[in-house]
Amino acid sequence: MRMPEPIRFADLPTRIEKLGRLSDELGKNIYIKRDDHTGIEISGNKIRKLEFAVGEALANDCDYLITCGGIQSNHARATAAVAARLGIGVVLVLRGDENSPSEGNYFLNRMLGADIKLVTPEEYRDDRAEIMEGIRAQLEEEGHRGYIIPEGASNGVGSLGYYKVMEEILDQEEQMGIKFDAIVVAVGSGGTYAGLYYGNEVHRNPATIYGFNIVNNREHFQGVVLNLLREISNYTGEHISVAMDDIDIIDGYVGLGYALNQPQEIESIHHIARLEGLILDPVYTGKAMYGLIEEIKKGNFDKHENILFIHTGGLFGWNMDQRDLLGSL
Ligand SMILES: *Cc1c(COP(=O)(O)O)cnc(C)c1O
Repeated sequence: MRMPEPIRFADLPTRIEKLGRLSDELGKNIYIKRDDHTGIEISGNKIRKLEFAVGEALANDCDYLITCGGIQSNHARATAAVAARLGIGVVLVLRGDENSPSEGNYFLNRMLGADIKLVTPEEYRDDRAEIMEGIRAQLEEEGHRGYIIPEGASNGVGSLGYYKVMEEILDQEEQMGIKFDAIVVAVGSGGTYAGLYYGNEVHRNPATIYGFNIVNNREHFQGVVLNLLREISNYTGEHISVAMDDIDIIDGYVGLGYALNQPQEIESIHHIARLEGLILDPVYTGKAMYGLIEEIKKGNFDKHENILFIHTGGLFGWNMDQRDLLGSL
């Protein structure tokens, strides 16, 4: 497989900033890479993956993007924005119904003109690939060419986006005169972690790449990442050798489940907001940062000094009814 020419939509490189007061509090140098600043409509990590996936779609003369996600999927929203920018069609298969929150990403998808098909949690879990295939077949009958992007654009081609981020980080390290010895991300579908891990290995960089899973468990994502690493190397032609336990997924911070929050997570997000003027999202980065802080306090990051946390975005996830939450702030 050939590595596609990526489309260029994101504002790159994204800044790296030191979180000075949080660093003082934890006795570590904590830096943050602002991938929440890749753009407004395309904000977050998914655009990095879409740049490659959509590059492949355009190289194959496709005029429709088909993808899937939760009702508040950041990935679906970024895909809708990209399709509108390119003047091509987009169909989103979203897990939800008429009673799901209509704000935030879902509203933006409607604003951006995406065709939306709502499916039940069971349909989504068991049949989403078939449903997307069905849509592609239907479009083909109508004279279109559809390109299917899996959940989170976490496949080989999408993960190339974060392989490239590793190169961006290495350049920034040189400019800043610093070496990060730990790089930390939230893990939802695995592509961001896999791309970073691959880039770190290929460049023989000594950093440890840590992922905090916000759904599922460590074993699940170790398997997912291994597969993705193989898929990535099909594009680059360069294989790396990895054992399951080299893949550092830290479990224990899923909490109440996907997109559900417990008070200590909200308190942690609130604390960082006041301390640093930095807003994390409730579904991914809030949980991952909470996890990182807990792990540092437990001493599990004692061997690390310069830690880089990647802010993967997700701020439209706050645009739901937050009246209950306000009471606790
Ligand atoms: C999707 C997403 C992630 C997780 O990235 P994956 O590549 O799916 O593991 C992290 N943060 C935000 C805000 C996301 O939308």
